[in-house]
Amino acid sequence: LMQLSIPLNFIGFIYREIRQGLTDIEQMFDLLDVKQEVTDKPGAPELVIDKGAIAFRDVHFAYDPQRPILKGISFDVPAGKTVAIVGPSGAGKSTISRLLFRFYDIQQGSITIDGQDLRDVTQKSLRRAIGMVPQDTVLFNDTIAYNIRYGRPDATDSEVEQAARMAQIADFIERLPQGYKSMVGERGLKLSGGEKQRVAIARTILKSPTILILDEATSALDTATEQEIQSALDIVSKGRTTLVIAHRLSTVIGADEIIVLKDGQIVERGTHRKLLEQNGLYASMWNRQREASEAEERLRQMREED
Ligand code: ADP
Ligand code: MG
Repeated sequence: LMQLSIPLNFIGFIYREIRQGLTDIEQMFDLLDVKQEVTDKPGAPELVIDKGAIAFRDVHFAYDPQRPILKGISFDVPAGKTVAIVGPSGAGKSTISRLLFRFYDIQQGSITIDGQDLRDVTQKSLRRAIGMVPQDTVLFNDTIAYNIRYGRPDATDSEVEQAARMAQIADFIERLPQGYKSMVGERGLKLSGGEKQRVAIARTILKSPTILILDEATSALDTATEQEIQSALDIVSKGRTTLVIAHRLSTVIGADEIIVLKDGQIVERGTHRKLLEQNGLYASMWNRQREASEAEERLRQMREED
């Protein structure tokens, strides 16, 4: 029995070490329950990134064969452009970003980057090419500098600081008693949702991926924070192929194309202006959000008058 318990402890140790390393990605994608089914083909080459053009062609996908989630989705994100995906909760928006990372294989159709099917290249090279600012960033129990440098471990201190500045979190960090050496995460300073998101943006600026996925926070940020984050995001997405999963429609006005997803199908697509003219689902979502934010604004003014 003694002989058996030692290796088991050791395996437990290795397992915990690996898990800590995976925390970030797992929490990003709620993958804790998902077994890793995706494997590289024998001798698969690396993804060769040219300009990062993404193409979804007739993509069908289900987590569970009984329940189709995406039912024949086709769209392009041309190199350097921004495409936004909007639609009701549960429509399959975040699933599209998981498929782009190839956390799952699709059942029909194809997804390519610069003409290469995701199933034909190594997962490592694929994930290196894509940066993601998730809905909810998980910080490691380490310094804030470590958390930013995670985007590119060989970055110098001055590169870390420059990324923090671009993400508009440098002033906040410099005001902390320990500056960049401040401990964050569960056992350190608790950062607000907006601050964590800016750490994630700084990380992504350092990683400098060709392709960028932004999965917006659903939680309502206050207007000032939202504007600061938006301008930081505009800086990162400039010139990169960008897929935005959007909840706040105010952030997609400038997208080159907006795709409206409902029950796993594209029901409308076009620019903000075209979609408003169509007066369909997008227009009604837009009007509802505008009314909600106007009501919120009136409430705020009434409070100020008190
Ligand atoms: P959205 O981001 O548009 O709100 P998602 O892409 O997250 O929607 O989810 C689409 C549907 O897939 C939902 O009905 C959700 O319950 C289901 N789903 C998401 N993740 C999983 C999973 N890991 N296993 C099974 N079903 C899932
Ligand atoms: Mg989602």
